[in-house]
Amino acid sequence: MPHVITQSCCSDASCVYACPVNCIHPTPDEPDFHPAEMLYIDPVECVDCGACVTACPVDAIKHDGSLEPTEKVFLELNADFYKEPRPRPLLAPVVPPLQVRAPGTVSVAIVGSGPAAMYAADEVLTIPAARVRMYERLPQAGGLARFGVAPDHRRTRSVSRQFNAICADPRLELVTGVEVGTDVTHQQLLTDHDAVIYAVGAATDRPLDVPGVALPGVSSATRFVAWYNGHPDHTDRTFDLSSRRAVIVGNGNVALDVARILTTDPDRLAATDIAPHALKALRQSTIEEVVVVGRRGLAQSAFTVPELVGLTSMPDVDVVVSPQDLASLPDTDPRARILRDLPRRPGNRRIVFEYLQSPTAILGESAVTAVEFARNELVAAADGTVKVKPTGDVRTITAGLVLTSIGYRGRPITGLPFDDERGTVPNDRGRVDGIVATYVTGWIKRGPTGFIGTNKSCAQETVRSLVTDYNSGLLA
Ligand SMILES: Cc1cc2nc3c(=O)[nH]c(=O)nc-3n(C[C@H](O)[C@H](O)[C@H](O)COP(=O)(O)OP(=O)(O)OC[C@H]3O[C@@H](n4cnc5c(N)ncnc54)[C@H](O)[C@@H]3O)c2cc1C
Ligand code: SF4
Ligand code: SF4
Repeated sequence: MPHVITQSCCSDASCVYACPVNCIHPTPDEPDFHPAEMLYIDPVECVDCGACVTACPVDAIKHDGSLEPTEKVFLELNADFYKEPRPRPLLAPVVPPLQVRAPGTVSVAIVGSGPAAMYAADEVLTIPAARVRMYERLPQAGGLARFGVAPDHRRTRSVSRQFNAICADPRLELVTGVEVGTDVTHQQLLTDHDAVIYAVGAATDRPLDVPGVALPGVSSATRFVAWYNGHPDHTDRTFDLSSRRAVIVGNGNVALDVARILTTDPDRLAATDIAPHALKALRQSTIEEVVVVGRRGLAQSAFTVPELVGLTSMPDVDVVVSPQDLASLPDTDPRARILRDLPRRPGNRRIVFEYLQSPTAILGESAVTAVEFARNELVAAADGTVKVKPTGDVRTITAGLVLTSIGYRGRPITGLPFDDERGTVPNDRGRVDGIVATYVTGWIKRGPTGFIGTNKSCAQETVRSLVTDYNSGLLA
């Protein structure tokens, strides 16, 4: 009876180092760690010691005997990962401790207080005489772990316990309500500290560039998420929930979060961390159907399998995928197994997945009434990737609410270089190109990819670069 990793895994790899038999993979040093959607336990090698359970910050690991019926699919998902043999050492390679040259004091300013900032602070504070001052522009710390992660993903949100413990270190000073670049300059931070680490995330979304996008009733999923999570900049927003159908453009995990929140019974939402103003509005909602539209095929969907499991576990929502789209997946694809086995639940609110369509216009006079889509087909590109090509067919979907969810991007930081194409600060393993004593970590460093825990190994790399520079006398 092995242990099993389930939906809330955020890939921080704490369990990897707790496991006495190295049966949790991929580990951060393995090439498939970054693209992996979660970590997996080898059911054959697991000796059921339970050490990983206490190491996990988000309660993602369960004994297989205590899985909920909707979680049983994770037994298969964990085991599937080990179908191909994986050569591995007896123990996972441990990251060596940081060594600072005498006298050993280092003072670091960290800008932001999201996951990347927290993991960076945790790493810096492994140096006994280190000090960290963390600047956050909002009144509360946590970044997207507080204002992004869906309110019904409570196990994931419980990562805040770990962040609170990091902030409780007396060598860390958290300064909230201070925006670096506005209230304090980069130069001031450098005067007061040996180094500055920017962990400011990717605060804006990629805009949808089609006619009609400015019509009332069209917004970004980013704003909708911030609104239902009580982000102080977004509490005064209103969304028109009085139509029958909403359309979400894009099908990543954020799109699925939004579709779930729009279709969940408000009485169940009341038991989550949802903001009271959003719950009140959602209680009045007349939306019966949410259509999630992707420009490529089902096989190229941007959502992860754990997120799909979360969506399809809702007892009172009818999730609809066309038989043609389902037929495009091989039987071995876990998404095929999940979606084909899914019972239809007619009479309930619906989430409909639509594929191979790109929005070309938002229609309406004084507010959105429909979205026009061009149909696509898949073509194999010369580089082996799959691209889309318009077929020439057009269709419209009527909707009173349209939310775009096509990606996040970072904002330029005054005085730092900026890669406008990627929306990140150019850097070499966290060192900002051409600027001394200045580093980046998290989404502003590598772009909006990965999960909360992915920022841990990212922050470790940045802090290692910082300490190397400090030891070389470059931060004097
Ligand atoms: C909607 C959404 C849902 C998600 N859900 C999950 C999930 O369920 N599970 C999961 O594992 N991952 C999830 N993620 C991914 C996860 O949230 C990110 O990997 C992570 O938050 C990125 O961390 P970060 O610290 O780089 O950025 P952020 O979390 O965005 O933190 C940046 C912080 O910097 C602050 N800041 C910005 N500029 C300044 C400034 N000039 N001065 C001071 N402070 C500043 C911001 O206010 C913010 O607090 C989700 C992401 C999104 C967008
Ligand atoms: S229960 Fe023990 S052996 Fe099994 S995965 Fe967890 S730490 Fe490893
Ligand atoms: S969240 Fe971290 S500790 Fe928990 S299962 Fe995932 S990788 Fe392991």
